[in-house]
Amino acid sequence: MIVIDEERIFKEIEEKDPASVSLNGPDGILPQVQETAIKISEKFQIPTYVLADTTWGTCDMNSMGSKVLGADIQFNIGHTINTEVYEKNLILIDAYDDVEFDSVAKKCTEMLKGKVISLVTDSQHLHQVDKVEKIFTENGITVKIGKGKGQLNDGQVFGCEFYPASELKKEVDAYVFLGQSNFHASGIALSTNLPTYILDPYFNEVREITEFAQKLKKKATLAIYKAADAKSFGVIVGLKEGQLSKVFALKIKKDLEKEGKKVQLFALTDITNDRLRNLKGIDAFIQVACPRISTDNQFDKPVLSTPQANALLKILRNESIDGYFEIPHWL
Ligand code: SF4
Repeated sequence: MIVIDEERIFKEIEEKDPASVSLNGPDGILPQVQETAIKISEKFQIPTYVLADTTWGTCDMNSMGSKVLGADIQFNIGHTINTEVYEKNLILIDAYDDVEFDSVAKKCTEMLKGKVISLVTDSQHLHQVDKVEKIFTENGITVKIGKGKGQLNDGQVFGCEFYPASELKKEVDAYVFLGQSNFHASGIALSTNLPTYILDPYFNEVREITEFAQKLKKKATLAIYKAADAKSFGVIVGLKEGQLSKVFALKIKKDLEKEGKKVQLFALTDITNDRLRNLKGIDAFIQVACPRISTDNQFDKPVLSTPQANALLKILRNESIDGYFEIPHWL
């Protein structure tokens, strides 16, 4: 069950006495965010808005939405990073999953005995890392936890940022991800090219994600080769506040033009196949917003992410694209 740090929210409201507040969180915890919103409006008798658009990460907090509403404080829930106040009037609130990993951790000790592994997870299970490390160590598994960097805590990854995993690449045999997220675990497998297992406490099962990750890579590589034949490109800048990457968009435009390609610039908030279908005369797209839009979705035409775009340029220059995903940050 997801537990939101409501005490912190109530304390902030008591101290700052806002006229109205807004709350948002990832889709998976929206029902809990709604419950918290009801408690706030009953306890403080102030307008409490649930911002129900997506918020995929701290790159995408919809703070503009909160400003348009005129909310005095926005509580963004469930994107724990190593800082609490992200921008003025926007407070990051912890939400953790209270599910226990003891049973599933014990279940995989035989399989991992004698190996050196690194434990990694997302924000909602960070508090379980020490406990699982203890179980593993007591059962003959050597555990390493990678150091956090940028917004990441020790052992934490985002869908496009893997520093704690990448720094241990040469020291471990495999990664073990705590949680249910194929999304995060496949990113680890792709960025490290090492076996990666998911410890799923809900299904009480251990599953390897390596093959699934390789399928994502095959699809991504195919899109790069298809794009290499394109004559006209659309380079898309993302309009979400933390995904604006104009500098890279302009650089890739220049680089593609040098290779004889035609390039038009676009800007979009949500990059979906439906939106792209409206754009005519474009053979392939490059989007510099969220890399996972390209790797995890289906599009009619090639839609490349930043690491794929860099690989495309290499193909156009007859260079090798080996290991194009094997970098700690895909932006
Ligand atoms: S994977 Fe996408 S949504 Fe997640 S942190 Fe990276 S850019 Fe943001």
